[in-house]
Amino acid sequence: MRRWVIALLSGWMMVCPLPGWSWGFYAHERINEWAVNSLPPGMQIFFRPHQSFLKRHATDPDKRRYAVKEEAPRHFIDLDRYGTYPFDSLPRQWAQAVEKYSADTLQKHGIVPWWLEIMMGRLTKAFREKDPGRILQAAAEIGHYLSDAHVPLHACSNHNGQFSGQRGIHGLWESRIPELLAEEKWNFWVGPAFYIQDPPAFFWSRILESAHASDSVLRLERELNDQTDPSKKYAYEERKGKLIRQYATDYTRQYDQVMNGMVERRMRQSIQSVASIWYTCWVLAGQPDLPATSKKSKNDPLQESTRDLDRLWRRFRTDEPEPCKVKGEG
Ligand SMILES: [Zn+2]
Repeated sequence: MRRWVIALLSGWMMVCPLPGWSWGFYAHERINEWAVNSLPPGMQIFFRPHQSFLKRHATDPDKRRYAVKEEAPRHFIDLDRYGTYPFDSLPRQWAQAVEKYSADTLQKHGIVPWWLEIMMGRLTKAFREKDPGRILQAAAEIGHYLSDAHVPLHACSNHNGQFSGQRGIHGLWESRIPELLAEEKWNFWVGPAFYIQDPPAFFWSRILESAHASDSVLRLERELNDQTDPSKKYAYEERKGKLIRQYATDYTRQYDQVMNGMVERRMRQSIQSVASIWYTCWVLAGQPDLPATSKKSKNDPLQESTRDLDRLWRRFRTDEPEPCKVKGEG
């Protein structure tokens, strides 16, 4: 059965390369990795030996999207489908939102704020039960979803510029810029994690910030595009050891400059948010003693379940994916 699913996925992915619907893999991995550095000592003793696990599994929710149909809406919310900023017509509580719009509509336009509450429940329960495998699994995954909530184009239906002639902007913002600039000059030390008093309100405030920024993300790229010689926008340049056609280095740097460091800022906020939600769940669970270990986890609960997806991803990933035609796109 699993082989059949993999075979089907393989065929599908060959004709429809993976679209960029979240922070790129590089950023997700760095966010989870760096979040560990902001934890208090009582958590570091458990988390630090598993830092590579948290990094490695930071991208599992994205890989799973192609096998689990319920997965995709957990990564975004198209807030502009509910009016204009600050989208007051959309109830913040799930039950009220369902009553007003129906579960199908909410699923169609993305459910990341509500999914974060579910993931929080899973992580808090895992801490309470002192279950190392489940703690790591839930921590790695909530790190992914909460980071996605910080990406402006995850809060906007024009998520890849498909409605405005800017296809590819998603990957430019979330992959090309961090991969080019992060190691060069960005600082990921964000200070200690903090206790989040009202997690749902926190999730919504970060998502509303993202939605608010999405207009600038699109407008600034459009303006830069208009000022740029078309032959200078893309170039064959090296990425991960391969020469590929991508946004040119100069164009990427200029876009980062006109956004005034927004990508670094949102990545830093992601790191602190992820550390803080891990910390908050641990506090809500009663600050249990966590098992100290100097060895890597023998119990890697995700490894088995994602091995095939991981292999598939490596085989069929593309360096500059064209976005898939999805329902509702113009
Ligand atoms: Zn994602």
